[in-house]
Formats: sequence, C-alpha cells, structure tokens
Amino acid sequence: MSNAILVVGGGFSGLTAAIEAAELGHDVYIVEKTPYLGGRVAQLNKYFPKLCPPSCGLEIQFQRIRKNPRIKFFTQAQLVELNGCKGNYSAKVRIAPRYVVPHSVDFSLLASSLEGEKDNEFELGLAKSKPLYRSMPFAFPGRYVLAPEALTAADKARLVGNKFINLAEEAKTIELSVGAVIVATGWKPYDVTNLTNLGAGSVKNCISNMQLERLASPFGPTNGKIVRPTDGRAPQNIAFVQCAGSRDQNHLNFCSYICCMATLKQCCYIAEQYPDARITVYYIDLRAPGRFVKVLDKVKAMPNVTFVKGKVADARQAAGDNVEIQVEDAVRGEKLTLTHDLVVLATGMQPTLATEKLPVKLPLDEDGFVAGGEEAGIFAAGCARMPLDVMRSAQSGTAAALKAVQTVKGR
Ligand code: SF4
Repeated sequence: MSNAILVVGGGFSGLTAAIEAAELGHDVYIVEKTPYLGGRVAQLNKYFPKLCPPSCGLEIQFQRIRKNPRIKFFTQAQLVELNGCKGNYSAKVRIAPRYVVPHSVDFSLLASSLEGEKDNEFELGLAKSKPLYRSMPFAFPGRYVLAPEALTAADKARLVGNKFINLAEEAKTIELSVGAVIVATGWKPYDVTNLTNLGAGSVKNCISNMQLERLASPFGPTNGKIVRPTDGRAPQNIAFVQCAGSRDQNHLNFCSYICCMATLKQCCYIAEQYPDARITVYYIDLRAPGRFVKVLDKVKAMPNVTFVKGKVADARQAAGDNVEIQVEDAVRGEKLTLTHDLVVLATGMQPTLATEKLPVKLPLDEDGFVAGGEEAGIFAAGCARMPLDVMRSAQSGTAAALKAVQTVKGR
C-alpha cells in the first residue's frame, strides 16, 4: 500500500494537484511527456482572469515545486503501464533521453553554431529551432534538449568529445508505487487541417488562435509583433472565425468554452499594436461567462471591432496572400464574400485522450473527456475532464488532489 500520488501531466491543473497533495504531506510524482512543465498555459501570451503573462503564475508553481522535496517530476516521460488497484498501484514510466548532462548548462553559443534545424513544436509551426535547444523561453527544468535526428554530419563532428553531451544516452524505465492517480493530460488545439472548408491549414495567413498567442508573446518568434506569417507585414483588416471546429458534430460536438474569451483578449492585443486596424468577429454565439461579460462589453465598444453573427462557410486564398471568406450574415440574411489580410481561426480544445491513449482503464465520454474512474482511485483534473479556463483548471486540480489524498490517507 502506498500513500504516494502519481500525476500524469505537468500542465496547470497537474502542477496544482501535485503541489496541493505534496503540501498535505504526500509524496507526489509528476510525469510529463514534453521536456518542460507548464503545459498549454506556457504557450499563451496572457491569460485570464488578470491577463498575466504565463511566467507569472507558472513561476509561483515552479518555486513551490523547487522548495518541496516531496515532489519529484519526470519530463519527456510517459506512463507506459499501470497495474494494481486503488491504494496499491505500480506505475511504469518511460523516460526518453535528453542527450545532455542533468545540469543546467548554457549551450546557447554551441546551439547557435550548429547547422541542423528542426520544427519548433512550442512555436506551433511559426519557427524552427536548432537541434540543441531550450524547450521553451522560461523552461523549467532549464536544461537543454538535443534532437540527434536533426544533427548534420558536421554538427555530430562538432559534438564529439563534448563532456556535457551524451549521444549514447538511452531511454530508461522506472517503476513507482502509488496509491492514487491524477490524470491531468490536458488538451490540444483542434487540428485545423480537419477543417477543409476553412483552409485546412493550407491557406496562407489563415492561422489558429494559439498561433496568434505565440505571435503576440514577447518571447515568441516575432518578439511580440503581430504580423502576417507570409510577409511579416502588419495586418490591417483581421477576421476572427469563431467556433472553428467546435459545436459541430463533424468535429468537436461541444462548446470549447475558452475560444470566445481568447478572441476578445486577442482583439485587445491587436488594437494595442494597431489602433487603426479593422477587426471583424464572425460568430454563431458569444460566450463570456460570469464577470467576463465586462470584457465582451469593452471589446464591443471598441470603434474598430465589428461583430457579425454568421457562420463562415469557406476560406480561400486571395490575391496578395489575403484570405477570402464566405459568410452568411444571419441578421441581415445576406451571403457575404469578404477579404481580410489575416484570418484567425478560433479553434477549440480537444481533450488529449481523444487521440492519445493512456495505459489506464478509464471511461471516456464520446468526446474523449474522462467520465469516471474515481472508484479505482483515478481522478481526472483540468481539461481532461471538460473544457475549462486556467483558473477553473487550477480549481479542478485542487479538487482532484483532495480526492486523491482522501483515497490514500492512512494507508
Ligand atoms: Fe464557439 Fe465561443 Fe463556444 Fe468557442 S467558446 S465553441 S467560439 S461559442
């Protein structure tokens, strides 16, 4: 029997759950598949309710983790097997190699001297990175990662004999004894290539709302300048397409909860940088829960922002790398064809477990959200349970921690 708790996923809800459980006296293991902790929040420019940068909230979490010896975390790690029962689980975790020493070494000069390049997953297709890289701007842990497959022959020759690099490092598997499991596997932006009518990810200057977050971030690929990806030009006539993939039985058959608020926030980002830019928000419905209605009122009052009630049926490439959209204006009863120089798809959140399996017997609903498992001592937190914003994800993490603690208490 074990009173330790396993947290699968190191995003905001998982970190909150881990810290709460550890501060109540339990050993906690966090297993995170990316090389860093922080999850989706780390990719945002700012987040509600206070519109803080992610480093603000996450740094507090990281400090609490640094100070608490009860928390152990494993990055580039995945749960590969879970055996046992409530109160007495054995978890096998596979940890992929980083190929660098387990200390924070500044490899920036060496990294910049390498020739190879790889896709930068953190920047969502908007930038490349060197094969030796920091996984994100304020990465915790602060260790670099090496992607050997992206090294050129000259790069490999350059790394030979470097005592801080170990190209022979292999994956390892560890085994942990835990009494309860918190599943905080989070979400991913709905894959826009499924939205064939909206450009399927192929129409230039038609980007997702998460890509706009990266463009707006001072740590992003454009140092915070919101520009068109194709030519680096400041956009002057921007469209937001709401419910891009959400509330659609062919895609995500639910409201993603966050994307209206994300659009309102992003209208403010654009208006701050380009006060003369025109912004049009095409929507079916606008969701601004609770006190966030004030944000909706504020954006509605902005002189350059127009709201058009109507579903965008089509997005195509137009001259000058602009985007032509077709929309049926539901209020005026007209079909409109309009051209914008940047289109932002307000893509929704798909639970990670809808497309990636965990080796855990866990009931999922038809959309891939966790819909049970508590009787087995397995508790879902954050967006693994339902679409949530950051604040509610943290609350959900706390709730899952309390349930897990109750489960293992006294064992
Ligand atoms: Fe559509 Fe808004 Fe719901 Fe997102 S939050 S699915 S944009 S109604």
